[in-house]
Amino acid sequence: MKIDELRKDRLKKMLNKMKEQILQEAKEEIRKFQTAERRQIIETVMDDADLSVIDLSEDISLKQLSAHRDVLKKIEQALRKLDEGTYGVCEMCGDEIPEERLKILPFAIYCRDCQERIEMMEKFESEEGG
Ligand SMILES: [Zn+2]
Repeated sequence: MKIDELRKDRLKKMLNKMKEQILQEAKEEIRKFQTAERRQIIETVMDDADLSVIDLSEDISLKQLSAHRDVLKKIEQALRKLDEGTYGVCEMCGDEIPEERLKILPFAIYCRDCQERIEMMEKFESEEGG
């Protein structure tokens, strides 16, 4: 699939906008999480004098943010592929990613088959890791 400059430009703008939005959401989540959790942590620490709860809460916040981070990573990759001229080509198998898929997921860098395979692998890995 050949992408003309106009379309490339439009895609870049769209991806950058999505990036900003996700960053904003992530920041808000951190803020929300911090205020609510911190209060609780302070209360717990006052009761138990147990500082380990702070480490625990940081794990939770990382998990919450990892979804945002994953999307951001995908957007970065899509932007890189736009620059390299490989946008719309599956990173895994080299097949063209169907137009309809790119319309729904403009930052898709894998075709559907490969994406499903990767998600299955990731699920397996995270289950194994506990
Ligand atoms: Zn593929």
